Amino acid sequence: MINVTQSFLPPIQEFEAILKRAWDKKWITNRGELLLELEAELATYLGVSNFFITTNGTLPLQIALKTLGITKEVITTPFSYVATTSAIIWENCTPVFVDIERDMLTIDPAKLEAAITENTQAILATHVFGNPCDVEAIQEIAEKHNLKVIYDAAHCFAVTYKGKSIFEYGDVISTSFHATKLFHTGEGGAIFVPNDALYKKCYYHHNFGHNGPLDYHGLGVNAKASEMQAAMGLSVLPYIDTIIAKRKLLTETYETLLKDNPHLSLFEFREFAEKNYSYMPVIFKDEAHMHIVLEKLAAVQIFPRRYFYPSLNKLPYLDKSVSMPISEDICSKILCLPLYFELEKQQVVEICSIINSL
Ligand SMILES: *Cc1c(COP(=O)(O)O)cnc(C)c1O
Repeated sequence: MINVTQSFLPPIQEFEAILKRAWDKKWITNRGELLLELEAELATYLGVSNFFITTNGTLPLQIALKTLGITKEVITTPFSYVATTSAIIWENCTPVFVDIERDMLTIDPAKLEAAITENTQAILATHVFGNPCDVEAIQEIAEKHNLKVIYDAAHCFAVTYKGKSIFEYGDVISTSFHATKLFHTGEGGAIFVPNDALYKKCYYHHNFGHNGPLDYHGLGVNAKASEMQAAMGLSVLPYIDTIIAKRKLLTETYETLLKDNPHLSLFEFREFAEKNYSYMPVIFKDEAHMHIVLEKLAAVQIFPRRYFYPSLNKLPYLDKSVSMPISEDICSKILCLPLYFELEKQQVVEICSIINSL
């Protein structure tokens, strides 16, 4: 069976050797030695500071909204994982959708201003499949209207834009280290906050608001990661360049073999962005053909994923239904093809030959 993804697992002895340090110390959570070490290694690898590791990639979105004092309307993308919208609703804010750029799949800055009202306080956009949003245009609009900018960068490990980590663009940036992501800690994530004062507030918020054992800086929640998560991260990180190189090879194989297929198109990356090969999306010209491909691949135990589906403006628990024609159209016709470290080039060749035969 070939699934859309498979978690990279390091040799278990390497994981155990790191885990043993937590055992020896009898310290398994609350920003232990392993977590601090992983943060230091990530700071070096990514070339960023002002971040901390969290227990997943969703709580940072909620912490961002809470810490920035957002209570009203948040402009957001309909083309993302459900967590982007649900974080807004969970924090009792109102999502206001703005459609995406058809070629880039990220929120369309040209449509942003029309959605701004006197209640708009923030923009929460997703760098989809590691493809950066038009961060410059978004920043300009945000400054003009005094809005905060939060990015869901869950897909963006190691992505750079104009030579700088994508985690450095925006007021608060969240990423995910979930088992299905490029770099992972089983469950996990991180929050990046370039501004020092805001960083401190977010930091307090992720640890119950503690300011020392007996004092409270303010209201908080628990978004801490454990030493087990950190041990997984420390044992995966040494392999990350090898993982990315393999995924690059597989992606280029897909691209070469599928580029002339008249039934589909591949998505475009923004200029000046360095790719991380986190997903292999293909967009079919029509939905019926996508279903045929899905069926034929399933018949030989190959399972791509309809990602993302549905368009988030169609979530059943939203108050009002709005139409987002581009996002809805893409959602109805997109498949993410299998892409993971242990997938073999020959398997990609086989997947492509099935797709090309239909
Ligand atoms: C995975 C993902 C999340 C959620 O991250 P978790 O670590 O699973 O909480 C949020 N947004 C996007 C776009 C994702 O792909």
